[in-house]
Amino acid sequence: MQDLNDLYQEVILDHNRRPRNYGPLPDATQSAKGHNPLCGDKLTLSLKVEGDRITGISFEGSGCAISKSSASLMTDAVKGHTVDEATELFDKFHQMVTTPIDQPVDEEAVGKLAVLAGVREFPARVKCASLAWHTLKAALTKTTEPAKTE
Ligand code: ZN
Repeated sequence: MQDLNDLYQEVILDHNRRPRNYGPLPDATQSAKGHNPLCGDKLTLSLKVEGDRITGISFEGSGCAISKSSASLMTDAVKGHTVDEATELFDKFHQMVTTPIDQPVDEEAVGKLAVLAGVREFPARVKCASLAWHTLKAALTKTTEPAKTE
């Protein structure tokens, strides 16, 4: 099990060092800001939605390794998918990070996002990992209020 944790750690660090889909999105159709005051994580998420599909997505911001790698993983996971699929993945991710630590998570349901299952051990970190997802939901619903983890 320790080896698996090391592997997951490596994926998180890699996404932190080289975040995917990082930068501005000039032809964005909608965007949202997210803030996790507990840790100081801030991010701006930009989406390009055509019809019911997310054809473009990028994020910018500053924050801890968990928030950054989670945003990177999230953008990778929903890019090219429909809004409904992205919403479904939001629910699955949320379910994963709120599953008690002594219970197994459904890794098949969340795919690569399972690397973040370890944050359950650190309740404050769950907010870091969830920030990108709450911001995604705000962008999809075109909420003008900044997304908060509190
Ligand atoms: Zn954080």
